[in-house]
Amino acid sequence: MTTSERTPAFREDLCNLCGKCLHLCPVLHLPLEVAKIEVKRLIKGEESKYVLNKCNTCLSCNLYCPQEVNPYQLILERWNDRYKKRGAPPLYRFICPTEDPNIWQLLNHFLSNRERRWIYKWMNSTPKSEDTILLLGNYTHLFPFIIGGSKLLENLKPIDKIDQWEGGAYLYQVGYLDIVQNIAERCKRDFDKWGAKNIIHLLDAVQYIFSEVHPKEMGVHYEKNFINFNEWMLEKLNSREIKIENDLNLDVTIHDNCFSKSLGGKYWDPPRKILAKCGCNIIEMKHIKDNSLCCGFGAGASWVKNIAIPFDIISEGTKKFKEAEKTGASALISYCTGCLYLLWATKELLGSKIDIFHIVEVVRMAMGEKLDYPKAHIKRAWDIIAIITYQLFVSIFQKNFYISRITYNKDKSTYQPKKNSLLRIIRFLFNIGIVRKVYAKFFRFLMPLFNTR
Ligand code: SF4
Ligand code: SF4
Repeated sequence: MTTSERTPAFREDLCNLCGKCLHLCPVLHLPLEVAKIEVKRLIKGEESKYVLNKCNTCLSCNLYCPQEVNPYQLILERWNDRYKKRGAPPLYRFICPTEDPNIWQLLNHFLSNRERRWIYKWMNSTPKSEDTILLLGNYTHLFPFIIGGSKLLENLKPIDKIDQWEGGAYLYQVGYLDIVQNIAERCKRDFDKWGAKNIIHLLDAVQYIFSEVHPKEMGVHYEKNFINFNEWMLEKLNSREIKIENDLNLDVTIHDNCFSKSLGGKYWDPPRKILAKCGCNIIEMKHIKDNSLCCGFGAGASWVKNIAIPFDIISEGTKKFKEAEKTGASALISYCTGCLYLLWATKELLGSKIDIFHIVEVVRMAMGEKLDYPKAHIKRAWDIIAIITYQLFVSIFQKNFYISRITYNKDKSTYQPKKNSLLRIIRFLFNIGIVRKVYAKFFRFLMPLFNTR
C-alpha cells in the first residue's frame, strides 16, 4: 500500500455539524455556535481559528461525538496537511531517533553502567518464535530503572527497538500519518521475522496503534496477540503469580493518558484494580477517564512557534499538577511511560511536592522490590531538562524538517553520542542545587511570556 491509499478514519458522511465535540472539549470549551463553524472549517480544510493551534490531542472529542464519526482523526488529518506544507519544527528532532541530535542519542552521556547493561541486552536480543515478547518502547528506554532487574521480567523477552517509534504512536498523535504508515510496515517486517505470537507492550497507545490504527487506517494487518501490560499484571496478581508482600497504604491519584480513551475506555479499570490490590487508596481528580487532561505532551502537537513548545507543554502539564495536588493524595500514578517523563520534568520545574510513580514501580514496591526512589527519577528529570534546554538552543539555528528515514543509517548512526560539550556543561551545572532552583524559577518566569496557550 502506498501512503496515498491510507483510509481516513473520520466519517464525514455521518457528521451533522452539531459542534458538540469542540463544545465539550476540556481544553477549548468553544461556544456551540463557534464550535459548529470550526468543525466546518476543519472539514473544508480551511485555516482553523482554534483547534489546530490549541488542541492537546487528548482524544476526548471522539467520546463526545454522538454520531461516532471520529472528529479526533479529522484533526490529525489536518495536522498531516500542515506537516506536508511546513514540515516539523526543529525541536521535534528531539523525539525522532533517526534525526541528529535526538533524546536517545544525547541520553547516552548520562546513563549509568547498570542502565547501559540492561539497554544493551534489550536492544540486541532477537526473539524466538516461542518467546513472549515485552516491547519496552522508546519511553521506557529513558527510564530503564522502572523495570530493569525486576522479577516482573522473568519468562518475558524484553525488546527495546527505538526505531520502531512505539509503533508510531506519538507521531500519530501529532498527525504525521504518512510516516506512521511507513513505521507500520517496518513493524510488520520485524514481527514476521521474529515469528513470536504473543506481544506484550507497556503502552495503551501501542495496543491501539497495532490493533486499530495500523490495520484500519494503514492497511497493515498482523496475526499477533497484542497484550496490554496492565491487563497482564492484573491477571498475574489475581492468580498470585505476582505476590503482594506489602500493603502500601498510600493515598494516590491516577493520571489517565490520552490513548487510554481509545477502545471504549477498556484501559481505565485495570490500573485502578492493580492499585487497590497493592493497598492504595485512590482519590480521583476532577478530570478523569473520558475527560482526563493531557500530561502536556499534546500541547506540542498544535505547535505555533518552535521556541514556545517547551513552555506550552509545561504550562498544560501545570493544570494536571494543580488537579492532582488538590486531591490531597501523596502520589500521582501514571500508567504511561511517555507521560511519566514529562510529569517528572514538570514536577521539578514547578517544585511540586507530590510523588510520581509509574504503576510498575507501585507493583514492584508491593512485591517487596527495592527502588532507587526518588533519586533515580530526579537525576533523570534533570538529564532530560538539560537535553531539552540544549536541543532548544540548537534548534534556534535549524530549520523545519521532514522525517526522511525511519530506520537507522548504519553508516551515520544517530544513536552514538558525540562530544556535545554544551550539553555536558548544562548538565554539570544542574548538579548544583541552587542552579536548579534558579533555572526552575527562570523557566516559570518565562512561561507566561513565551507560551501560546
Ligand atoms: S464530529 Fe460529531 S460531535 Fe463533532 S460536529 Fe460532527 S457529529 Fe457533531
Ligand atoms: S483532541 Fe482533546 S483537546 Fe483536541 S479537540 Fe479533541 S477534545 Fe479538544
